[in-house]
Amino acid sequence: MVMYFMMCCIFCKNNSENSKSKEHIIPESIGNKEYVLPPRWVCDSCNNYFSRKVEAPFLESWYGKISRFEMRIPNKKGRIPVGTGVHPYSRTKLDLLFDKDGLSIFSASGEDETRFVKSIQGKVNFTFHRLENQN
Ligand SMILES: [Zn+2]
Repeated sequence: MVMYFMMCCIFCKNNSENSKSKEHIIPESIGNKEYVLPPRWVCDSCNNYFSRKVEAPFLESWYGKISRFEMRIPNKKGRIPVGTGVHPYSRTKLDLLFDKDGLSIFSASGEDETRFVKSIQGKVNFTFHRLENQN
């Protein structure tokens, strides 16, 4: 006698026999590559729903970006979001970028870079303030 159990999605309970996507218990987009349910545990429809309606809005939010920047969590393509800040003495808005070489600091688009550069010339340390929610 052969027993056959149909796989049902753990969320919607519909048949998930033909689903191809893996369910990342903690989203892959915030660094999880280890905790994954194999295909068929979650149907493609529910997996897509969580991706579009839960993960994407979080990742695109100011909090999602700044959290990933500060914790240096790359996305699936290996990119860490650009951080933003203000150099208080020159009042220059800055973009901060982590990459394989470390932290790079740029004046934000449209900002006067010379004011910032002049202000930090000859200094070993300087501070910047994180920009608060721009949304
Ligand atoms: Zn489902």
